[in-house]
Amino acid sequence: MPLKIIRDDITKVPVDAIVNAANKTLLGGSGVDGAIHRAAGPALLEECRRLGGCPTGQAKITQGYNLPATYVIHTVGPIWQGGNSDEAEQLASCYQNSLQLAKTYDLKSMAFPLISAGAYGYPKEQALEIAISTINAFLQQNPLLVYLVLFTEEDLILSHQWLKP
Ligand code: ADP
Repeated sequence: MPLKIIRDDITKVPVDAIVNAANKTLLGGSGVDGAIHRAAGPALLEECRRLGGCPTGQAKITQGYNLPATYVIHTVGPIWQGGNSDEAEQLASCYQNSLQLAKTYDLKSMAFPLISAGAYGYPKEQALEIAISTINAFLQQNPLLVYLVLFTEEDLILSHQWLKP
């Protein structure tokens, strides 16, 4: 099944798991992280406190609480530092480890935001390229419905341009 790219608020997407672009503390933050915690309710933060943080490129799973999604997979993207600090490998790891967790939990559908492309400053075109190629490589081997959820019309148009042959 090919990756589906849509424009939406990820907190509204009814899938088995949504992915959170978290920070290493897993204690909430701005952007999509804040939106997910607001929509899930305080029980999410309580569960996150017990996880003891998460290193960059790794992923941890919690319940989804008040979200339409059953689970939240929290992953920590790299902070953009110019491109020579393993950012690309770390960003690909975020997608791979999140997909692997979904497989371990036998999930059928999941949704990603564009990790690191907000406050963490990753150039959008490059973030999109890594997201699309890493997810599609996984989907060649594994049956899973995956959405890449872009928040703005501008990002959606960028993804269409990027996808043109
Ligand atoms: P990071 O710190 O990893 O850069 P951000 O949350 O700042 O995370 O941004 C990551 C991406 O998530 C950005 O492209 C931003 O536009 C997008 N985003 C913010 N809120 C939402 C939301 N509610 N649903 C989907 N995407 C969102």
